[in-house]
Amino acid sequence: MKSPRLQLYTKVLIGLLVGAVFGILANRWGFSDFVHSYVKPFGSAFIKLISMVVVPLVFASLLVGTASLNDIRKLGRIGIKTLAYYVCTTAIAISLGLLLANTIKPGVGLSEQARSRLLQSVSDETGTQIETPQEQPTVMDILLNVIPKNPIRAFVEGNMLQIIFFALLTGICLTLIPSPRSQPVIGFFQGISDVMVQMVHIIMKIAPYGVFALISAVVANFGSDILFVLLKYSIVVVAGLALHAVLVYSAAIKTFSKLSIRDFFKGIRPAQLIAFSSGSSSATLPVTMECTERTLGVPSGIVSFALPLGATINMDGTALYQGVSAVFIAQVYGIDLSLAQQLTIVVTATLASVGTSGTPGAGIITLAIVLKSIGVPLEGIGIIMGVERILDMCRSVVNITGDASCAVVVASTESKV
Ligand code: ASP
Repeated sequence: MKSPRLQLYTKVLIGLLVGAVFGILANRWGFSDFVHSYVKPFGSAFIKLISMVVVPLVFASLLVGTASLNDIRKLGRIGIKTLAYYVCTTAIAISLGLLLANTIKPGVGLSEQARSRLLQSVSDETGTQIETPQEQPTVMDILLNVIPKNPIRAFVEGNMLQIIFFALLTGICLTLIPSPRSQPVIGFFQGISDVMVQMVHIIMKIAPYGVFALISAVVANFGSDILFVLLKYSIVVVAGLALHAVLVYSAAIKTFSKLSIRDFFKGIRPAQLIAFSSGSSSATLPVTMECTERTLGVPSGIVSFALPLGATINMDGTALYQGVSAVFIAQVYGIDLSLAQQLTIVVTATLASVGTSGTPGAGIITLAIVLKSIGVPLEGIGIIMGVERILDMCRSVVNITGDASCAVVVASTESKV
């Protein structure tokens, strides 16, 4: 028997494949401009629709989730487990990236021609697409910035960390006031959360078309020559991402939960396809929450807590990508990285991935923090710009898979899955 979720997955997958073929044809037959002007907007509309749900859904569901845990000690326990899982898997992801990049050495031994094309791409791209922040935020700045001075402003700006902070605090305080006064508030936000989930259901009906439009626009624009020069580097990143997803998440699911690895990956597939085509874990969040709760059976309290937090601070794919990219760029410039510098990459890439927002291309911006910490020229970012979009799509898939695996693991250790 086919579940509705599976049918949706099949339709979205078909949308993705047909979109890719259409994009290749557009690229070959020279109608990429048409795709860009008239097809891509459908994809953008789809992403805007799911993004529209994110802020109200995160706030309402996190608030209700926290208030319904009803016990600060339980909340603290779940919070610590969630954070521990996020930090450990992120550190493993970067270490895996470093291991692969140091063993395969994708940036060593490039032909003179390939090197000059890469450096040429630096002068073409730098300054136009990358705005490397002049002042890198300190760890203290990042931490202080979690507290919103004005929560309404946080909502308006869509500052997820601040929204999460305010929702958690409101949820906790709701458990501390008398029930006749807290219940109407909880009921109200429960209603908002239900409405948002319903909206996601409706929006997902157009997901196959949205994915078609997004993918065809990406493929139509894709210059294959740059990809070829950067092929080895791209393969190292993608292989690292695949290894991390398959080894680390499978091991975690197998060790901690009763769910089979197959069911886990099958259940999360619709969200992976959306993450792939949108390149945004934040926009995918409503779908990730839906798959994790409905298909994987994680209780809503844990879903509403772990996933919004994960979509904002947990980016294993981004961290792995930053590890590989830092070593690759250093190799292209002929810089030998010491062990201390590699350890610095582990620490800074963990922090940088926390500070990376779940939006397309955010990870390449925070890569500047990592490069700066080890003294590699920031212009090196331009070298990898040509393949940025495709790698962004792949790392976003891993980012959301990591969040979902955390929710399953935490729920299992609370004996809920
Ligand atoms: N696009 C990624 C995400 O949303 C973040 C990144 O650029 O690495 O998960």
